[in-house]
Amino acid sequence: MTDYSRDVRYIKGVGEARAKQLDKLGIRTLRDLICYFPRAYEDRTVIKTVSELEPGETVCVRAVAAFPPRLSHIRRGLDIVKLRAVDEAASMDVTFFNQSYIRDSIRQGETYIFYGKVGGTRLRPEMTNPIFEPENGARSSTGRIVPIYRLSAGISQKLLSKAIRSGLELCGDELPDTLPPTVREEYGLAQARYAYENIHFPEDVPALELSRRRLIFEELFVLAASMQKLRAKRGSEKHHPIRKNDIRPFIEALPFRLTGAQERAIEEVTADMSGEIRMNRLVQGDVGSGKTVVAAAACWYAWRSGGQSAFMAPTEILAEQHYRSLSALLEPFGIRVALLTGGMPAKRRREVGDAIALGSADVVIGTHALISEAVHFRDLALVVTDEQHRFGVDQRAALSDKGESPHVLVMSATPIPRTLALIIYGDLDVSVIDELPPGRQQVDTFAVGETMRERIYAFMRRLVGEGRQVYVVCPSVEPGEEAEDGMHSAVEYEKELREKVFPDLRIGLVHGRMKPKEKDRVMLSFAAGEIDILVATTVIEVGVDVPNAALMVVENADRFGLSQLHQLRGRVGRGQHKSYCVLFEGSGGEVSSQRLKIMCETNDGFRIAEEDLTMRGPGDFFGSRQHGLPEMHIADLTSDISVLYDAQKAAAKVLSGDPELKKAENQRLRNRITELFTLNESTMN
Ligand code: ADP
Ligand code: MG
Repeated sequence: MTDYSRDVRYIKGVGEARAKQLDKLGIRTLRDLICYFPRAYEDRTVIKTVSELEPGETVCVRAVAAFPPRLSHIRRGLDIVKLRAVDEAASMDVTFFNQSYIRDSIRQGETYIFYGKVGGTRLRPEMTNPIFEPENGARSSTGRIVPIYRLSAGISQKLLSKAIRSGLELCGDELPDTLPPTVREEYGLAQARYAYENIHFPEDVPALELSRRRLIFEELFVLAASMQKLRAKRGSEKHHPIRKNDIRPFIEALPFRLTGAQERAIEEVTADMSGEIRMNRLVQGDVGSGKTVVAAAACWYAWRSGGQSAFMAPTEILAEQHYRSLSALLEPFGIRVALLTGGMPAKRRREVGDAIALGSADVVIGTHALISEAVHFRDLALVVTDEQHRFGVDQRAALSDKGESPHVLVMSATPIPRTLALIIYGDLDVSVIDELPPGRQQVDTFAVGETMRERIYAFMRRLVGEGRQVYVVCPSVEPGEEAEDGMHSAVEYEKELREKVFPDLRIGLVHGRMKPKEKDRVMLSFAAGEIDILVATTVIEVGVDVPNAALMVVENADRFGLSQLHQLRGRVGRGQHKSYCVLFEGSGGEVSSQRLKIMCETNDGFRIAEEDLTMRGPGDFFGSRQHGLPEMHIADLTSDISVLYDAQKAAAKVLSGDPELKKAENQRLRNRITELFTLNESTMN
């Protein structure tokens, strides 16, 4: 049996020092090594004769070393090896800079394959610093499709290739193969041995494509099977029983009419809660789409069955805002709503804690304070997390642990493209609120350059004169961070606006390095209309409702992701006032102008997210693994969607025939899933 967990340092050609460097690439074990797939390939299969060479192309050429190579020492730090290489019809000059050892590694009269960029002219072609290998040796870099790996300092393509070669030899025919033979046959997938061989050392293009398909399929198959197992597991857990109830009294008491999307979401949530399986649902909707009322409906529903609800928000100020709006919606029914935040006086916190333990608080809204050890619920039936991307999965889990399998509802304004939500949230059901409450206005958006600055300042002054308020967002807190010219820092910029540009206006400052209390004080004072222009970092991205704010100015907008800009823009246009967003382009160049243009064209968060995704890829899009999925080695969640569907189908079929994966042919899949679950224990549920 191959031990895939064997430390790479014991693999031929690696050793202690290189193992450290490989570690930086995430390669620690034999499995990591052979699953370290190339990020690209270079097709070097074409081998030309010298007279076929075209200046400018990068290609392989077959030629004989006509004379012994000549080494000349030009000056200190500059050695040159020159070589005349010929075939039957033509000749070429080859030059190597500062690689004097080459004089001894090329032998006169021997035939080599050179690979490099052709310089000179058609009649007198030349190559500088080409890669070369004897034609008759074991060639790894010429005359074939060559894998290109992502590297780190001290590790070369060649070294990595060699290490992978020895890794593959070690494995023999025992490769990490999780596909049951029936699946492999049904979907026409290559054998594991073939796939690993050809993904690293492709014979030709068709072999490479077959191998890629097999490995992508396999990766997604394991993922899909894991998710389906998780779901089955959730189905078998006992959960908090909630009676079927009529939700209409809650809806009829609302101060507004629900949108169709909200109604649908509420229906889905209540059906989940009184259903067979514990609810695990994501409500996803653009900023301002009205997610809070869906959560309130869920709390109401839990209360009707006598259960408590906990509602966790990422900041004190958001918690307080939710506390106010939920109190208004729920208290008329006699529901007791409580607030618990770290900033409250200890005595008050204790009192609320007691009320929660005794069951005399029905709905508790709070911050992380809710997960502190001192908090005990009497009968927790529902857990709601707002702006879920702000919390770690473990924090959410800690809140759930306060009850006996409470229902879980998470809310997110990060508009994840539908195709992705499907897998990212594998075991979450998703309700999408894709409709804004009526009367919402578009925020007019402009991307502008420096030349417009004076006009924008004048515009800010005019809006403030009309009684409106303005946000100005900067990418960094203090000057000199990441030391870039022309980048605005909040601290510096606030000073400039306060002292020079608008000495007569009330300017405020809020950023992430301030103490939570201080931050909240500034935000509350802005909400109360005591600040005209608030200079901020992205701390304001989540949050507060200041309907009087009518302009969002973003400095160095090219430094932000589109989805983030969209979130920021969502801070304005929340009242009846016509609202605007101005994006200063900074020095991001062509690509960033293109991106910002999308912001000007649409207010649709989904479209923006899709664009963001195609431009930046899912890695960036989700930041540091906040989606909690195991890392994908080869599958690309944006382009391999059709393979994903097949993989999901295949997984469903396997699991329906063998739910516990007890059959011999499913053992490897079962082991792999167990491995993934232990690796990702904290992130996958
Ligand atoms: P978000 O989805 O960003 O959390 P909120 O739930 O905070 O949005 O709702 C934004 C605002 O819209 C709130 O002031 C809320 O009262 C209001 N609202 C929600 N639903 C409706 C509706 N159907 N009609 C009118 N206003 C609504
Ligand atoms: Mg909200």
